[in-house]
Amino acid sequence: MINFNEPPFVGKELEYVKQAIENKKICGDGAFTQRCNEWIEQAMGGGKALLTTSGTAALEMAALLSGLQPGDEVILPSYTFSSTATAFVLAGARLVFVDIRPDTMNIDESKIELAITDRTRVIAVVHYAGVGCDMDAIMGIADRYGIKVIEDAAQAVMSTYKGKPLGTFGDFGCFSFHETKNYSMGEGGALLINDSSYIESAEILREKGTNRSKYFRGQVDKYTWVDYGSSYLPSDMNAAYLWAQLEIAEQINNNRLDCWARYHEAFAPLEEAGMLQRPVIPQECSHNAHMYYLKLATLASRTEFISHLKENGVQATFHYVPLHSAPAGRKFGYFAGADEFTTLESERLVRLPLYYNLKKDDQETVINAVASFFKGK
Ligand SMILES: *Cc1c(COP(=O)(O)O)cnc(C)c1O
Repeated sequence: MINFNEPPFVGKELEYVKQAIENKKICGDGAFTQRCNEWIEQAMGGGKALLTTSGTAALEMAALLSGLQPGDEVILPSYTFSSTATAFVLAGARLVFVDIRPDTMNIDESKIELAITDRTRVIAVVHYAGVGCDMDAIMGIADRYGIKVIEDAAQAVMSTYKGKPLGTFGDFGCFSFHETKNYSMGEGGALLINDSSYIESAEILREKGTNRSKYFRGQVDKYTWVDYGSSYLPSDMNAAYLWAQLEIAEQINNNRLDCWARYHEAFAPLEEAGMLQRPVIPQECSHNAHMYYLKLATLASRTEFISHLKENGVQATFHYVPLHSAPAGRKFGYFAGADEFTTLESERLVRLPLYYNLKKDDQETVINAVASFFKGK
């Protein structure tokens, strides 16, 4: 069976984890965490990066730092992972779901304004598949209404919009280093703070409500409990695992892009024949090959397609069931406007295996299994 995903492993991970242990510093904010933070800041061209225990934790921090009050509203797509939504629910907000664009599966920027009320405080955008939302339009709306923007860039490390890295447009960028993402530490993530006025409160929030980060920098001579907080620091052993990959991020990115391009080329004739649709990358976006997906004509043909692949030794999956139709989505929010594309498009989408070092032979098997499904149709 060709797995849908295999966690990235590049070779140096064990050596670095061993080093972390030998450093006698396996809790948070050790040498490897520092290196990962610096790498993120450099790759993003600025901002302050804080490694977290997950992408969800980074979103939670962003939600809490944005100062939401009960009854405040957050605009987000319904086509996303539960983390994007639940982070804001924990912060006390009400969710307002907006439709997606059928081409990129990202929030439809032209439908955001209709969803704004006098309680709207945040627009949370998701860069689906590592392909950027229309950030010019979205930042324009946010500026006009004085609303914050939080980017769920969990899938978007190393992607850009008009040459600027995703995660650097809003007040906060949230990244994930889960094993299914391009760079991994098992479970982990990072918060990128683009407005420096949030740095001190973010450090306090992440360190159990204490000013311990200031203490470590020698800025105060003892640390104390100063505000509410939680524990969002990952172990330095996990950071060591991640560092091995960030060190060769370019190589991982190119390997994934090659793999993505092979799929894209192989399926062009099937798209021309009207059998399926391939992903669309807008001109202003450069992506990171986070995933490769296809769209079938209907939900029924997708179901048939996934079982055909399985019979041919290929594990393919679909996601997401739109959040507004889920029990928690109905409880915590509502869909603003018409669901023109969210449900329809989500039911057609299927993801193919794509991971670092997916073998060419295995990719051929996937491509042949796809082709054989459409033969004679
Ligand atoms: C993976 C993912 C998350 C959550 O990241 P974790 O590190 O698993 O908590 C959030 N949003 C999106 C869009 C994701 O793909």
